[in-house]
Amino acid sequence: MKFSLKLLLWTMIVMAIALGFSGFYFINYVFETSLEREAGQALDENSILSFAFETAALNVPAKYDVLQDSTVEQIAYNLENSGQNTSRMLRLSNEEKEPLYASDGFETDDGLLLETGQGTKTYRTIEMNGHYYIQTGSTVNALDRVLYLETLRDVSVVFNERELGFLVYRQVTVIMLLLGTIIMHLIASWLTKPIRLLTRATKRMAAGDYDYRAKQVSNDELGQLTRDFNKMAEALEENVNELEAEIQAREDFVGAFAHELKTPLTSIIGYADLLRSRKLDEEKSFLSANYIYTEGKRLEAMSIRLLDIMVTRHGQVQFQEIQAESLFSYLRDMFQNNESMQFVYAYDQALLWVESNLIITVLINLLDNACKASEEGSVIEVDGHKEERGYRFTVKDHGIGIPKEELQKITKAFYMVDKSRSRSRNGAGLGLALCTEILALHHSKLEITSTLGEGTNISFFLPDLEKEGEWNEEDNH
Ligand code: ATP
Ligand code: MG
Repeated sequence: MKFSLKLLLWTMIVMAIALGFSGFYFINYVFETSLEREAGQALDENSILSFAFETAALNVPAKYDVLQDSTVEQIAYNLENSGQNTSRMLRLSNEEKEPLYASDGFETDDGLLLETGQGTKTYRTIEMNGHYYIQTGSTVNALDRVLYLETLRDVSVVFNERELGFLVYRQVTVIMLLLGTIIMHLIASWLTKPIRLLTRATKRMAAGDYDYRAKQVSNDELGQLTRDFNKMAEALEENVNELEAEIQAREDFVGAFAHELKTPLTSIIGYADLLRSRKLDEEKSFLSANYIYTEGKRLEAMSIRLLDIMVTRHGQVQFQEIQAESLFSYLRDMFQNNESMQFVYAYDQALLWVESNLIITVLINLLDNACKASEEGSVIEVDGHKEERGYRFTVKDHGIGIPKEELQKITKAFYMVDKSRSRSRNGAGLGLALCTEILALHHSKLEITSTLGEGTNISFFLPDLEKEGEWNEEDNH
């Protein structure tokens, strides 16, 4: 059952019970009060009749010493008919409580009479022939006799009023409940609107519409819930987007990998087929074997790079203290045989906390790229400078440069600005991807600026580390 319907139903049940009880109590209270008032008047009437009877008895000619039954009847008859509009209903009984005179229709049992004693006044409510009466009883002392006087007062109107009151109240209650249902329905649907909006948002999100947000329509707890839901949706959307981007990146990676694999393999298979199917002269045989060799080498280099990336991503990294100078002397030794370029080294002394092999790999890759992009004899500057709270390495060349729109892409695996040019230099487009992975481990990243035709400047900043501590530990977990 819907929440708003439950709310409505319970409100109506509570309202119906409350109205029912209060109405019943109120009408009954009015009824009791009226009945008491009527009883008071009936007793007063009884007293008046007693007095009248006693007076009448005294005025009877003193012919007899005792009050005759026939005289009692006569007086009772007179009293009965002395009322202004309607005749009174009364009954007079003798000392033995046997009726001497009774008005027409005075047919009640003698239950009240039996309770009535000398000097006491009693009353009760009775129903007779579809009418309600208040019956009163008292004693009358006339001459030497003690008689019993009973009266009946018709109070049907009080009972009818009570019935009418109930009827009217029932009708009013039904109307109130109907009106209440309509009003409560509107209130309940207004109160539960945030829940409906949240449900809709949940369904839309479940159907994959992650950027859908629930509209906040109130500032109460439900409004807070909507705000929290939207925050959660935002976090979820970010996660989903990240995951999707990651999946896309992996797909791109696999696609590019397959493609890069295909080119050298096609050459290798082609030349191998040539060698086995025909007898070639010595020069052609050498050329074919050489193609197979160089393409094979390229594949080998690519697989080593890929392995490096995988190891860097998942491997354990051992940081150690190392002098910046030793990194530069390693580079100097490594590139001293490359006489086609002019390397210029400039650095500040500093103690670095790094995984030195990995940082050397980054620097070698950057220098390799710089060489590949530069003309023979051009200058390549390799700098190491202390900065506030860290150390910055920069590799600057005066080569072909990189178009602005390509700057974002060159760190992606297998991406090469000019594929044929890179391939001719044994490139696989993996060097900068590897550098990015390594630098991420050092909480750093490549910063590339380049002007087409003038050269490229690639740098990275290594923040100072608190020896043995902080991110070394967290990285290894
Ligand atoms: P690999 O490094 O795997 O042998 P690669 O050098 O082609 O191959 P990356 O080092 O990732 O791959 O570089 C990606 C691309 O970025 C290069 O192909 C090149 O087009 C461009 N690039 C990188 N460094 C420079 C540079 N200094 N000057 C001009 N272009 C560059
Ligand atoms: Mg490279």
